[in-house]
Amino acid sequence: MKPRLLPLILLGVSLAGCHSISPEALAPLPPETAPVRFLLTFDDGPSILEDYNPTLAIHEQLANNPVQPGIKAIFFVQTRNRNGGGTARGKEILRQALAAGHVIGLHSGSARGHIRHTKMSPEELAQSLIDGKADIAALTGEAPRFVRPTFWGHNESTRRTYAENGLEMLLTDINGADGSRLAFHTWFNRYSHIRAELEHVRAALARNDMPVWNGRTPVVVTFHDLNVDTAQHLTEYLAMLVDDARQLGIPLDEKPFYDRAPDATAVAAQRTTPPESVVEVRRHWAARKQTRAALLVPATAN
Ligand SMILES: [Zn+2]
Repeated sequence: MKPRLLPLILLGVSLAGCHSISPEALAPLPPETAPVRFLLTFDDGPSILEDYNPTLAIHEQLANNPVQPGIKAIFFVQTRNRNGGGTARGKEILRQALAAGHVIGLHSGSARGHIRHTKMSPEELAQSLIDGKADIAALTGEAPRFVRPTFWGHNESTRRTYAENGLEMLLTDINGADGSRLAFHTWFNRYSHIRAELEHVRAALARNDMPVWNGRTPVVVTFHDLNVDTAQHLTEYLAMLVDDARQLGIPLDEKPFYDRAPDATAVAAQRTTPPESVVEVRRHWAARKQTRAALLVPATAN
């Protein structure tokens, strides 16, 4: 891919003029605000497409890009998807992710694929977690530590099942909203969405409401590596995150993205949601986006 960053960024900047920023997002930041570093995560893969494989295209861009080469991410995978992790090619791509220094987390261990965890019986969910952990351990030599719920759907029962199976749930601060291939048709939509998500991060920083780890403020970002469009534009997304953060006055670390698996693991561990928690990790803007504020919703309604 040959990114055409400058014209697109300039377009984004010009379009941003139409975008009104909430007063909360413009509140002064505390002077001691720790600089932000983004933790990239990807859901749903691996892809086993042959001609243009979006998972592999994302691996390549994380390793080589003009924003920050050598980024390490957490990939929340589907281990038994018949069109992905359940195939020999899917397993090979998972090995490649590991060899490239990325972290593997569990998204789905069910042969039924991307099933909403809250729609599974506790027994089926538990078995899928056991299977998914075993699948990943067979590839990596150790069981995954983190789980991300499919469709962001979780409740007290699923969180308890995660914990009983030794898994910690990681949600997100910034959602690329690219879970559907139809999610974004235009650059403006992508730009305005990520910009809005960053404004929420900035507002949380202004409230001194973001956890700090090792002198930096980790911000979890989620994309979907089955999305060909995301793969084709990932380098532009990276530039967009950095450029928009700067425009919003968000202090950025000299390395804006985590680039070591142990750091990614430690940061994720800090940001997981305890099973008994009634406070959403994505609490800063959960009220506005009720569809993802699952912890604020009674278990039976999810
Ligand atoms: Zn998913």
